[in-house]
This record gives sequence, C-alpha cells and structure tokens, in this order.
Amino acid sequence: MNSIKRNILLNPGPSTTTDTVKMAQVVPDICPREKEFAGIMAPMRKDLVRIVHGGDDYSCVLFCGSGTICIDVALNSLLDKGKKALIINNGSYSERAADVCRYYGLPLVEIKQPVDDVPDLGVIEEALKSDPDIGYVYVTYHETGSGLLNPVRAIGELAHRYGKFLISDTTSAYAMIPINVYEDNIDFCMASAQKGIMGMTGLSYIIGRRDIIEESKDYPKRSYYCNLYMQYEYFEKTGEMHFTPPVQTIYAAKQALTEYFEEGEEAKWARHTRVMNAIRKGIDDLGLREALRRDVQAGLVAAIVYPDDPNWDFEKIHDYCYERGFTIYPGKMQSRGTFRLCALGAIDEQDIRDFWDVFAQALKAYNVSVPAKYDR
Ligand SMILES: *Cc1c(COP(=O)(O)O)cnc(C)c1O
Repeated sequence: MNSIKRNILLNPGPSTTTDTVKMAQVVPDICPREKEFAGIMAPMRKDLVRIVHGGDDYSCVLFCGSGTICIDVALNSLLDKGKKALIINNGSYSERAADVCRYYGLPLVEIKQPVDDVPDLGVIEEALKSDPDIGYVYVTYHETGSGLLNPVRAIGELAHRYGKFLISDTTSAYAMIPINVYEDNIDFCMASAQKGIMGMTGLSYIIGRRDIIEESKDYPKRSYYCNLYMQYEYFEKTGEMHFTPPVQTIYAAKQALTEYFEEGEEAKWARHTRVMNAIRKGIDDLGLREALRRDVQAGLVAAIVYPDDPNWDFEKIHDYCYERGFTIYPGKMQSRGTFRLCALGAIDEQDIRDFWDVFAQALKAYNVSVPAKYDR
C-alpha cells in the first residue's frame, strides 16, 4: 500500500480516517443491485443500531447524502397533518432544523434559547403543556458550532411525559459519546459516516422506532427523495436503498464499523476525551479563551474566542497550520469571532501536542502575543 499523507483534521468532520478505511474503498466495480451488496448493508444497519444499544424495536435507515439529509428527512416525514414541530433552537444546527421546517411550511413551535448555556426545561415543559398539537420534540444533542451539550435525557423525558416522541440530531456525538436510546429517551437519532464512525462522506443514517416509522406511512408525503417511510419500506422489502447508494463509501463504512467495535465504545470515548484534554491544555498554556464554560460542553468541540490582538488573523494562522498538515476551522457563533478545535477522528493526544507546537510557531511568525490578549 502506498502511504497516504496523514492530515490532522481538527474541523468538525469529515474527520481524520485510518488508512485501512481509506483503502477499503478500492474494490472491484459492483452493481449495487446485486445481492452481494445488499448483504453488506443488512448487517451494517444492525451494527448502526447496536452502537446506540437499540433492540429490534429500532431500525436504521440509510441515506445517500451528508448529515443534513437526516435532519430534512426526519422533520418532514414524521409530522402528521395538523401537528406542529417543536424545535429547541440553541445553536447553528438547530437553527438549520428550524429552517428545514420553514422551507417545508411545517407548523413550527420554536423555542429559542441561549447558545452558550443549557436550555430552560421549564420553558419547554410550558410549551408542551399549552399546545396539544405538538407532534414531536427536536433537539440537537451536541451543538457542533459552539460545543454545547444539551440535556437530551431530561428533554426526552419531558417529551414522553406529554405523549410526544423525541428526535435528536446526534450527528456530532454518535459513536463518540456513549448513547443508549432507551436510557436517553431518544426515539430517533441520526448521524453521518464521516463523523463518529470515522468513515467517508456521503452516507448518513436515521436510527429510530420502528412503530413510529410504520405509523408515519400515511403522513403527508412532502418530499419524493427525502421520505423516511419510503426508504424504510424499500429496505424492508428488498434490503436495498431506493436509489443508487454511495457504493465505495459503504465499503469504507463497513471497515470503519469493524474498527469501531474493535476499539470499543468506552475506549473510544476515553480517547476522544484524552484528545480534548490535550486541546484544553494548549488553550490554557497560550492563555486562549473559550466561548463556553467547560461544564456545559460536550467535550468534543472547543470554540476559541479570537484574541483582541491587532496581529491576529485567522486566515494566516489557518494557512500556516494547514501547510503543515493541521486543519483548524472557523466558528459558527454569531456574537463573537471564534475558531474551533474538534476532538473527532482517528487522532490521539500526541497529534494535538504536535498541533500546538505548530500553532505556537504560527503565533510567533505573525507576532501574535502569548499569552493571548483579551480586552475584557
Ligand atoms: C455535521 C453535522 C450535521 C451534518 O452536516 P453536513 O454538513 O450535512 O454533513 C448535522 N448536525 C450536526 C450537529 C453536525 O455536527
């Protein structure tokens, strides 16, 4: 095998992958309508349910697309006529979910909450109590733009108490933070192969309650391509995706899942935590500041506030690091300039120590002061 240059991606996905996952894409050409190919997807769907500890009452439905396709599919497919979507909006990804509802013209109850703190459960309960027409409750598990961890278990419990089901966008937590759909009160979750399982882009999946999917059979069909029941039914009948699957990405995902189960849920989360601790150590050493308190963070993304230094220029620092194999990423918080360092992917603490060496060199090269300067 030729060695492939190893880049350390500190952006919020796609993540750094192993060479074995990269090479798993190089396979003989195959028509995905052959039984052999369906034979790869069937155990894969089971494995993807197993990652969140679901039983046969949960099913996994695969889609060809980036993670946003799952937000689109879940929101538009699981709302019955006359029902409203309740979206807890406290970050850029839940804002995207609210936008999806608006684009489909879905009746929407939007609960806006601060982007840098946990949401107020009382406000959510009040909305559930006062509006019997709510169909489902939607919350982002980990707001990747800020690093905020939402109290999904408590929100799910509230939803269930009022007879609603919970959809959680777990894209940036799934296969990293241990999730148990029963204990965490999650009826639907979702992810994308390029994030937690450390696969390639182009394959995304919704994992959810079979009975609710089956109930949605006669809900209004709002999209031809992005409908959950249609894709589910096709899988149930034929074991295949309705339309052409991302063939090579699926081979990579198969290998990524083998590596996921080899590493193990706990060891993998411990590794991500090690990486995050190394990220935080560098932040502290350089006097950088984070936008969020650490106790409200998921522990996978650090949103670092731009120093108030006239020589600070994110583009320049980015380019310096990029040329040396490290990718950092702009933030997604509207209030202040931030950049992000993410603990996703096939990396470990030594990679982060190497990164901070390069980052410190970059600061020096551009005369940015250390410790970092902040006006307030
Ligand atoms: C990455 C991500 C998505 C999907 O984004 P795409 O760009 O469509 O892959 C969705 N939700 C969250 C929370 C994410 O982190």
